[in-house]
Amino acid sequence: MTIALYPGTFDPVTWGHVDIATRSARIFERLVVAVYDTPSKNLLFSTEERVALFRESVRDLPNIEVTEFSGLVVARAKSLGAQVIVRGLRSGSDFDYEFEMAFMNKNLAPDVELVCLMASLPYQYVSSSLLKEVIALGGDVDSLVPHHAVEAIKEKMALEAQS
Ligand code: ADP
Repeated sequence: MTIALYPGTFDPVTWGHVDIATRSARIFERLVVAVYDTPSKNLLFSTEERVALFRESVRDLPNIEVTEFSGLVVARAKSLGAQVIVRGLRSGSDFDYEFEMAFMNKNLAPDVELVCLMASLPYQYVSSSLLKEVIALGGDVDSLVPHHAVEAIKEKMALEAQS
């Protein structure tokens, strides 16, 4: 069975992430979305919340599962028996980052391959960080983020504003 691992921060999930996951799940028999437990980023959502929001977005796709993880991506790939790491590319800067990371990962785990899917056109400029900024300023991003994630962002921001 070909198992692929799709790691990321997903703070929160966007339709861009769901698009990559859905397309990967057509190529690979099983896709495991791995939500970083301890990314070096300032996050809006906890790990459990990020997992739950992604899970809700792909609940109709039986060969996708969403889990949390910490540590090295290649170590998680190995422990799962995944042959492939999936990432999405939106731009040259995504490419540069993945290219550098791929060399390191190949060094650590020569058997694990990286497969990058190009972002679909409607989601080319979609990033979780930009969306959070736009929502904070009252912008409408409903076509770019699953509805339940938009609601969760608004709720979280309202809570933060109160504290
Ligand atoms: P990370 O911190 O690992 O970059 P992200 O949640 O920002 O986590 O992104 C996870 C993966 O999804 C990365 O490979 C990223 O390039 C990809 N990605 C993010 N947004 C999009 C999008 N709109 N379309 C396609 N791929 C995307």
